[in-house]
Amino acid sequence: MPFPDLAERVSEVRERIDAAAARGGHGQVVRLVAVTKGHGPEAVEAACRVGLEDIGENRVQEALQKMANVTPQARWHLIGHLQRNKVKPVLPLVSLIHSVDSLRLAEELDTHAAKLGRRQPVLLQVNTSEEPQKYGVAVGAAVHLAEQIDSMPNLQLVGLMTMGPLGATPDQTRRVFARTREIFEEMRWHKIGGAGLRHLSMGMSNDFELAIAEGATMVRVGSLLFGGKAEDHQVMEDEG
Ligand SMILES: *Cc1c(COP(=O)(O)O)cnc(C)c1O
Repeated sequence: MPFPDLAERVSEVRERIDAAAARGGHGQVVRLVAVTKGHGPEAVEAACRVGLEDIGENRVQEALQKMANVTPQARWHLIGHLQRNKVKPVLPLVSLIHSVDSLRLAEELDTHAAKLGRRQPVLLQVNTSEEPQKYGVAVGAAVHLAEQIDSMPNLQLVGLMTMGPLGATPDQTRRVFARTREIFEEMRWHKIGGAGLRHLSMGMSNDFELAIAEGATMVRVGSLLFGGKAEDHQVMEDEG
């Protein structure tokens, strides 16, 4: 059976999540999103077998392939950059999109969600670390874009997503997560998203405890569960 020690890895990660949440003092419930990118459908099957219900994918093409080949019911999270021309095929199949980062993408999602007759939950991705090679709306533009998304009838803005800085110290990483929580709180103060605004998707294999300490409600963990190198994180591609 593939991924024979997955159950053990999951319980280790869950223990670390619970411990970090207990230390953090934010009192939040933390959802574990299992990132199976780079692995085939058998990774999703294995995840579902050990009780993981939330599956994260960062590439649309890979996600579509797995969705077509996996029998168990999973909740699919799109965590990677979404090009506008991929909205139509992927939207019917995803539960939460973590990576909305522009007005044009939000408008495209709103249009297609309307055609499906649904209100699509989304997160706004913020480039809090302000690294030029990263996706995400700039910090200074985040609240305004959040307001615009919130006004779209077929999107439901449920929170923010961010990625920790590459090659940073724990202090620097933690500051990025804290800053993201401040933007989230500012949005709350402006009543953007209403009561539905409740998620902070931040933290991966190497920094999820720091993210939870700053209030993360969703952590996206891949390599720690399924092995493999923690490479191929969101990287800039040409729009096409
Ligand atoms: C790959 C990826 C993750 C998981 O990264 P790991 O370091 O393998 O845990 C989380 N979020 C995004 C956006 C990713 O692309």
